[in-house]
This record gives sequence, structure tokens and C-alpha cells, in this order.
Amino acid sequence: MGLYANIILDISHEKIDHPFSYRIPDFLQEQIQPGVGVLVPFGKGDKVRTGYVLEVTDQCAYEESRIKEIQGLSQTVAVEEKLVRLAAWMKEQYGSTMIAALKTVLPVKRKLEHKQKRTVVAALPPEDLESAYLECVRKHQTARARVLAELIQYEQIPYELVIGKLHVSKATLEALAGKGFLSIESETAYRNPGKSQAKPEEKKILSKNQNGFVELVWQDYENHRYDTYLLHGITGSGKTEVYMELISRVVEQGRKVIMLIPEIALTFQTVMRFQKRFGDRVSFINSSLSEGEKYDQCERAKKGEIDIMIGPRSALFTPFSDIGLIVIDEEHESSYKSETMPRFQTVEVARQLASYHQASLILGSATPSLESYYKAKQKEYQLYTLQERMAGGALPEVHIVDLRKELKQGNRSIFSRKLKALIEDCLEKKEQILLFLNRRGYAGFVSCRMCGFTPKCPHCDVSLSLHGTGKLMCHYCGYETVYEKKCPECSAPYMIPFKAGTQQVEEAFRKEFAAFGDIPILRLDRDTTQKKDSYETILSAFAEEKAQVLIGTQMIVKGHDFKKVTLMGILAADLSLSMQDYRAGERTFQLLTQAAGRAGRGEYPGEVVIQTYQPDHYSIVKSAAQDYESFYQEEILYRQLAAYPPVAHLLSVQFVGKQEKACEICAGKVREVIKEFAFREKILLIGPVSGAYSKLKDQYRFSLTCKAKDREKLVAVKNKIEVWMKEQEKLECSIFFDFDPIHIF
Ligand code: ADP
Ligand code: ZN
Repeated sequence: MGLYANIILDISHEKIDHPFSYRIPDFLQEQIQPGVGVLVPFGKGDKVRTGYVLEVTDQCAYEESRIKEIQGLSQTVAVEEKLVRLAAWMKEQYGSTMIAALKTVLPVKRKLEHKQKRTVVAALPPEDLESAYLECVRKHQTARARVLAELIQYEQIPYELVIGKLHVSKATLEALAGKGFLSIESETAYRNPGKSQAKPEEKKILSKNQNGFVELVWQDYENHRYDTYLLHGITGSGKTEVYMELISRVVEQGRKVIMLIPEIALTFQTVMRFQKRFGDRVSFINSSLSEGEKYDQCERAKKGEIDIMIGPRSALFTPFSDIGLIVIDEEHESSYKSETMPRFQTVEVARQLASYHQASLILGSATPSLESYYKAKQKEYQLYTLQERMAGGALPEVHIVDLRKELKQGNRSIFSRKLKALIEDCLEKKEQILLFLNRRGYAGFVSCRMCGFTPKCPHCDVSLSLHGTGKLMCHYCGYETVYEKKCPECSAPYMIPFKAGTQQVEEAFRKEFAAFGDIPILRLDRDTTQKKDSYETILSAFAEEKAQVLIGTQMIVKGHDFKKVTLMGILAADLSLSMQDYRAGERTFQLLTQAAGRAGRGEYPGEVVIQTYQPDHYSIVKSAAQDYESFYQEEILYRQLAAYPPVAHLLSVQFVGKQEKACEICAGKVREVIKEFAFREKILLIGPVSGAYSKLKDQYRFSLTCKAKDREKLVAVKNKIEVWMKEQEKLECSIFFDFDPIHIF
């Protein structure tokens, strides 16, 4: 029981850094806990103000004689109270400072730039625009054609969306306005939210299966049972349609909804689809908004001007006073894990938030994370499956090609004979081709080109990777072994690191298919997308058929329908299997399943070629068959045997600093601090080892991994380390915590 409370008064960016200490009077001892709103005297005149409790402690950080007392509880049930409570929970669960946690959940106050809200409105009826559109197409004025095509369909589109998502310049818009095809209308956004859309989107009649899910959730909801649901359905199976139905029911009752979508999947079509259905009551945030604009959106939410907020991870912290439903689409995406302190997992935080609000939580995915599916199997979540595609497009035909055989038969090219034949076929028919280069975990990946053998750590059962030192190493435990070209399995001299970027693939492609002349090719990877919007620019260029071939890394497999793509070539499916962590099989399955789903989305049937050195690996076989359930059965067995999440949990304690020796010593000390507790509680300690990217950005890195069946025990370990940290006069390096990390440290 603490005697003092640290309290923040105004929740605004500047003052969060300065909590004030107050004494807790006896009569409030029970009620005071993090997040609670309180009334306190402040300043010379002891004016009563509202504040929020951050922390309860035994130590007075202020002169005892001058400390003031909390007067009572604040009666306003403010939005902030739940968010501050959430921050306190996150601090405890993930390890960070309270300030960092607060800054994560509270909107940052910034000056409001009074921006004009502008809308692009069709100035002619659709029939007339149609001929203008055809004219533009004929003249190859693709940007103009793009706007007109959308205006024919939607009548009006927010200005920002035209510029930001359709990549149309201001000049183009003005030219079209000059010709009388459209007008750009403006109003002061903040005071008069835009007019509602001309034609609200018609509701689809849900299929029996879709309805089944809606009724499942709704019956619980009406009985005040706010549960978590996992909706498992392939892309196009109608999940979004189902979300919209439930969202509209919740909104009709006057409650609010948050829907999370990975930023990359928040396309023009998705935004328009929701706007058509929900008009001005829906709002979107994404990373291209300025801090001021984000704050603006939060203010609108607080004032009740919107019902639905859609956006990436951070949209979860929209300050709604009464949330009835939270939806997390593509819940398996790794962007839902925060990589800055507190390193939280969005699904877990959403569950906590949902419990504060009494809200239902829906997780949707075509390839659920092992965590979620495991919980569904344990009956912690309710599982529901949507099996068929709602709108056209049969699943493509998938061929698995054994690259070892290609090599044996003398084919040293990166294109197998099967893929080569299909590419030629496509080039002749003038259809589009996607070539996917799986580059996840490719740094340091070594395998035998003859037999597919990959060296593994005997202790951790993950792939070893080649370090600058010329040794093969395990990233979890630091196990090292010599590297030789000769394969220990088949003795062929082909144990070589894999090196290929999209550029090499393009060169090889041009050489191999030179007979077809100068084929237009686009490339999409980290290097070609340095500029902020180039990702979408490249994708829209490909969608407009400005190129016949698109070569890319994992970025090309997410979202986006290319109607003319009939062939998807996956050049080396194994690369992600070699990832030096326990999620390798899961990531590979997700990537390949998504990749396979890219072909044949239009009227043309699609074919997929998966090239691999491990054609029998279950991740590859099951993804080719689009069989999630049996993939899960195999994968969970491995997690059980090796005690990896979701069956057990990991805590990576990370030591980062400029001095190598200091980091290492610090890591060693921390190990000593927790050794006894770990032994008693059956927590496995691994390391410390130097990090995978040992000296990144001039910082040395060491990590100490703790493994336990029970997550709460790892939280206890973290707490012990935090206490120790406070006792130190000075820490020689920074210490971070990462629960169930998804990136190799
Ligand atoms: P997902 O979110 O699973 O990818 P969507 O909800 O986007 O699936 O549905 C895919 C396509 O099928 C969309 O074009 C959608 O309009 C259409 N669709 C979904 N449900 C129905 C339905 N009940 N009737 C007709 N069309 C539907
Ligand atoms: Zn190991």
C-alpha cells in the first residue's frame, strides 16, 4: 500500500514529463491506482484541478512538509482515465517508463493548422465523363483517366485521397477543372464536416455463412457478452462485408468502433468503400497525416463527431468515450507489434481496452497467427471460418518445382524449366507476370544447392547464419561452428550463401528472355521505394499495365489486385524458412499463401510456380494446397517440442551501448540478478550473446533470452530487473525489454 501518488495535471505533451507528488489520505487508500482521475489543490491559491494518477509509491519525491494531499476523486468519467489506465497496464506488461507509455496512448497536443478541407466533385453526369475518360485513355493521359474513372464511380472524392492515393498532381486536377469536368470545392474542415456522400453504398445481402458470424457476435453482444472472435477467411471471402454489418449495428446503438488495418492495405478502394457506406461518420488516420492533423481527428472523436476510426496500430488509441467494437483486420501482420518502447502486441492491448469498454473484439485473417489460432483452439477465442470467395476468381493452380533436380540436370539459371515455359507463354499472350523474391532472413543464409540441407543449431532448432567472422552462428544461444563449402549431408561443394537482389533477377530475366525484345519491367523493393510514395506509384504503374513484369520482395504480395496477372513465380521459397528464428515456418506459410492468392484474381485463370530446395517442407506443401489447418497442426507440434510461443513465452532483455565491454558486463550482472529466481521458477536463461547485427549504428548489442511456460513469470523477471536498474547509480548501457520478439536482435 503506497502513501504517495505521482499525478499529472494537464494531459498535454509538454507537461506529461512533470508529474507532481501528492499524499494519499487514508480514506482514499483503496481507490487510488494508476489511471484514476483525482481532484488536487494546485499553485499558490490552491485552486482545485483534475489530474490522473500515474503511479503509487512509498517514497516521497518531494519535501515531506510541503506536500499536499489529494482531495477526492474526480467525478467526470473522462476518456483519459481509461487511456491512462491502459498506459499503466502496458508499462507493467511490456516494460517501459510511464512517460513512454503515456506518449504512446495519448494524443500529442499540437497547434491546430486550420486546413481547408477540399473535395473533388464531378461537374458532369457520368455519361458525359465517360467520353472524356475514353478520350484521355486514347491520348495516354493516364493520370487524368485515373481521376475521371474514379469520379464516374464515386461522384466526389476527398482531395487528399486523389493526391495521396491516386497520385494525381495538382496541375492535372486544375487542368480538368479548367475543362469543366470537375470542380474543387472547399470548406473549413473543422467547423463543417463535409457533406455526406451522394449515393450511400448499397448493403450486400450477406450469404448464409457470413450471416452466421454476424449472428454469433450479435447474440453475444446483445446478451452483454463481449468476447473475442477469430474470423478465418481467405482474401475475398467477404470479411470486410461482415465487419461493415456489425459496425453499422454497433453504431446504430450509439456506440463507437475502432477498426485497425495495416497501413499497406489501407488502399483508395478501402477508404472509398467505407466512406460510401458510412459517410462523414467515419474517419481515417495514417502515417502521412501530420501530428496536428492526427490531434484534430482525436478531438473530433472526443467530441463525438465521428463513430468509426480506421487506421493502423496507433488508431487503437482514439479517445472515444464508449467503444462497442474493435476490429483488427489481417491480425497476423507483424506491423501490429510495436518496435519502440513499450514494445506491445496490438491484439493483447486491444483485448485489455475492450475489457475496459465492454466491447467485442474481432480478429480477421486469411492466415491467422499461431498465437490467435492456438487461443481459438483453447476456446479463449471463438473461431469462425469463411471458406468461399464471394466474388469470382477460382484459386490458382500451384506447381512446386524442386530446384535440386534442376541443378542435377544442368540448369543453373534462377528460372526452372517449368517457370521458363510459363513465362514464355505469358509473354506471348501479353499477360502480366509477378516474380516474387523472398528475401526475408536472407542475410547470412546458407544452404546446400544440391540437397537442400540447412545447418541448424543443435540446442535451439533454428537455422544458423554466416557471420562476418566466417563462422556459422545461432542468434539465440550464440552456438558457433565452422563453415565449409562442402555439405555435411551430401558432400557436394555447394553450401554457399544465397545472393540475389531484384536487380540481379531483372538482369537474368533480360538475358533469358532476350528473344522477346525490350520487355517493360518494374522493380519493387527497399531500394526502389526510398521515397515515401514510390511504393504506391510503382504498384499503380503496374496496375495500369505500364509494365509487363513486376519483380519484388514481400511488398508485392500484400493487398492489391492485379486483374491481368496470370503468373506468379516464387523464385526461392526457402529463403524465409532459413530465417534464424522460430517463426520461419509461419512467415513462409503466410507469404506463400498470400503470394499464391495474387494470381488469377481477374477473369483469367492463374498459375503459380513455387521454386524450392525443400519441396517436402510442410510450410511449402501446405501453402500450395492453401491448407491452413494442417499447416497449423505441424507447426504447433514444433512449437510444443521446442517450447516456443504460443506454447511458451520468451523475454529478450537487450543491452545496447557504445562500449562493448560495458554492455557485456551489464548483461552478465543482470543474469546474476535473476539467476536464482529463474532456477526456482523453471525459467530457462539463454545467453547473453552478442546481437545478430552486433554493431548496428555504432552501438554494441547483447541479448539475454528468458524462456518460460507462463508469461507472468517473465513479467516478474522484468520487474526484478527494473528494481535492480533503479538501484544502480549509473547504467553503462541502455536496457530494453521485448516479449515474444518478432525480430532477431
Ligand atoms: P475480404 O475482406 O475477405 O477480402 P470482401 O468483404 O472485400 O472480402 O469481399 C470480397 C468481394 O466480394 C467484394 O467485392 C465484396 O463486395 C463482395 N461481396 C462480399 N460479400 C458479398 C455478398 N454477400 N454478396 C455479394 N458480394 C459480396
Ligand atoms: Zn542455439
